[in-house]
Amino acid sequence: MADTFDDYLATILAAVQDEAGGEVHEVPRALAEADPGLLAAALCTTDGELHSVGDDEHEATIQSVSKAFVYALALEQHGIGEVLRAVDVEPSGEAYNVISVEAESKRPRNPMINAGALLVHALVGERGAEQDERVEIIRSRLSAMAGRELSIDEEAAKDELSQAHRNLAIAHMLRAEGVMPDDDPVDVVRGYTRQCSILVTPRDLAVMAATLANGGYRPGEDEEVVSAPVARHTLSVMATCGMYTAAGDWMSEIGIPAKSGVSGAIMGALPGRVGIATYAPRLDRHGTSVRGRAIFERLSDELDLHLLDDPHRQDTLWDRLRQQEA
Ligand code: GLN
Repeated sequence: MADTFDDYLATILAAVQDEAGGEVHEVPRALAEADPGLLAAALCTTDGELHSVGDDEHEATIQSVSKAFVYALALEQHGIGEVLRAVDVEPSGEAYNVISVEAESKRPRNPMINAGALLVHALVGERGAEQDERVEIIRSRLSAMAGRELSIDEEAAKDELSQAHRNLAIAHMLRAEGVMPDDDPVDVVRGYTRQCSILVTPRDLAVMAATLANGGYRPGEDEEVVSAPVARHTLSVMATCGMYTAAGDWMSEIGIPAKSGVSGAIMGALPGRVGIATYAPRLDRHGTSVRGRAIFERLSDELDLHLLDDPHRQDTLWDRLRQQEA
């Protein structure tokens, strides 16, 4: 058995390396052209130890993984109660891009599907803020979570926008139902698509996840990016809604609050312990990375990282690897 985190992660990567299932996402072109063989795993403990293997410095657009972080920003800005009045937190059991709202309240069902994420995007910044201002707040706050200045792949955003008919339909529907703030729905989709085009590496995502796992403080830093109640609320919604149509299966089998994106990234966070990121572009029918899921399954099982594992269990592989590093 491996005796350092790096060796351990390397054995996991080798074990899933040849899993060939799934398809890369076609939009934007940058994703269609991604090398399907890319593979990485990164893990950042809440005391700031970062371990990663494989293509861990590969930058890809953040896509839907951004929804969790931007939700946290909106909660921080407006308070949890006010955001709940705008977007519900019920698992929808539907695909991420479904054009639907709750029948009675007309609220999007949760902030992890596109309807909710578009509305959440529009809540960031001053009311009526310009698209550039909003996107800049998001870019700079996500950079604070990652601990480095993140940039935006504007080409990818443009390319995705030229085909964003569903997201435009959703934004127009929200406006027509009277639940989207006064902004121009087209502008909201533009801003949201740029949010999805922020470039991150698996190492960035592990640190950002660890920030949520660490009560809103980037490990090792004393400046709070979001408050502890906001971090907890965000993790709850990741746990129930982060994996769309596979949310129940993910929670029972893996048990780590997580968010997937069509780039092939998965970001997961276990409170008080660790942030995890995987990257492998081929996706299953739920939009979850096939090999990313396989890595999470092993980590959860072998390191006893399921949220509902007995916390008193002793001398686990996790404990032993932690002691080696100390
Ligand atoms: N930008 C993509 C969209 O809004 C993100 C989807 C995803 O990662 N699930 O359709």
